[in-house]
Amino acid sequence: MPNGREDDFTWERDDENKLNTKYPYVCHAELNAIMNKTSVDVKGCTVYVTRFPCNECAKAIIQSGITDVVYLSKPKIEDEEDKKVAIKAAEKLLRDIKPREFRSKTEACDLLMSIDPNE
Ligand SMILES: [Zn+2]
Repeated sequence: MPNGREDDFTWERDDENKLNTKYPYVCHAELNAIMNKTSVDVKGCTVYVTRFPCNECAKAIIQSGITDVVYLSKPKIEDEEDKKVAIKAAEKLLRDIKPREFRSKTEACDLLMSIDPNE
């Protein structure tokens, strides 16, 4: 939820009225990470995400200058029409970035070893 508004909105997933669900209000992890970065910018950076970005986050990723996207899983797009559009649009938006799926245990070890706790 937006900072300072955590108690103003519901975390419900299902309701006949979508305004009574979390979806119109929740801040996705990608946008949250970009907006709350601790560096001047994220140009040329890699973003690691659990789920393939939606179209709204894809736009934020592109505009921020992030050049690599690594995701753990991609939602099954046959589930819901809204998700299908969001994922298909994100795939089009991120075409030049070419997101890739995180697969390798070695890759995880390399990532953890590259983090300098003194920075
Ligand atoms: Zn998103």
